[in-house]
Amino acid sequence: MAQPDFERMWRDLAPIGRSTSSGGYFRQPWLSAELELRAWFREAATARGLEVEEDPFGNLVAWWPPQGVSRLAGARTSTSGAVLTGSHLDSVLDGGAFDGPLGVVSSFAAIDLMRERGVAPTRPLGVAAFVEEEGSRFDRACLGSRLAVGAASWADARELTDRDGVRLGDVVEGGTSTLLDGVDAYVELHVEQGRGLVDQDAAVGIGSGIWPHGRFRYDVAGRADHAGTTRMEDRADPMLTYAMTALAANKQARLAGQRATFGRIEVRPNGTNAVPSHVTAWLDARAESDQALADLVAAIERQAVDRADRDGTTVTVTAESVSGQVAFDVPLRHEVAATLGSERRRVPVLPTQAGHDAGILQEAGIRSSMLFVRNPTGISHSPEETAGTADCLAGVEALADALTGLVG
Ligand SMILES: [Zn+2]
Repeated sequence: MAQPDFERMWRDLAPIGRSTSSGGYFRQPWLSAELELRAWFREAATARGLEVEEDPFGNLVAWWPPQGVSRLAGARTSTSGAVLTGSHLDSVLDGGAFDGPLGVVSSFAAIDLMRERGVAPTRPLGVAAFVEEEGSRFDRACLGSRLAVGAASWADARELTDRDGVRLGDVVEGGTSTLLDGVDAYVELHVEQGRGLVDQDAAVGIGSGIWPHGRFRYDVAGRADHAGTTRMEDRADPMLTYAMTALAANKQARLAGQRATFGRIEVRPNGTNAVPSHVTAWLDARAESDQALADLVAAIERQAVDRADRDGTTVTVTAESVSGQVAFDVPLRHEVAATLGSERRRVPVLPTQAGHDAGILQEAGIRSSMLFVRNPTGISHSPEETAGTADCLAGVEALADALTGLVG
């Protein structure tokens, strides 16, 4: 039974990168906790006789070769029709245990279950762990999968720096990835990051698509001055422009039923007794369609510029990344849904407001699908993120059924 395997793997991962104060996880790519997770991934693969392949960006795939093929190495890239599952191992800063690792652990457990059931794959089946999915270190979400499919260029990416000024190009070798050559389909299992499955009273759901999403940097420039001697009416305070912009973003998103968040700011000189000279703030915006996102972002920018005029400041908005709406492959979704046996379980179909590697692969022409596992509170990107063991095991079973349908 896959249950003890799943629970053992989950226990093994639990302490890695966990903060003793908050209980949250710090698993930024290529730092100690994430390196430990990569070592764990290799061990889990080796223990199952899977062949691990790593691309020059650090993306990992553990391959289960098809029946009759003893070694996949060398031959794999000429094999078409490979099926991929998996997710990512990194976390946001102070994140939860489930976002990412649940998909990887469930993939290994699904392979265990398939073997127990005597399934022999007719095509290569890989478990992927994509690197820097959260963008927690180099500030580009899904960076590993974007590089793997060629949606991000290495020439640009290698110049990215982390908060300590370390260049990505000095952390990984880079180059060209052949890791996904021949991959025909990707199925990613993920903890749900909202309450869609709670509301529909279901343990597992299927993804229909991903809302478009953008990250925008707001640079607000004013004039540094003394907090005591400068009269209020004589100031050019960028903090005011920022604060009103954050309120405007919240209001615009509420009015339109969308999402807008300022979750990160940097202030210069960042002193208690100084009017700041500069505020840099990052807007994360998401909406149900590309047009709705463009409208939302334009409305927020308009209000920021209006406010800057009144504050005597200037505001410059730079789009750091914008991902368009993703619709997962509909025939694949039907194929997956059919294997889940709607008789036995009710499997709702729902969109997600969170970005995923599956969206990057889908956009790159690899048909993709997602399975979501119920999150009882809907909280994610937080130490409080959780999922019940019974639901996780239902997820493993659903994934094993879906993969069996694709490779069995
Ligand atoms: Zn994730």
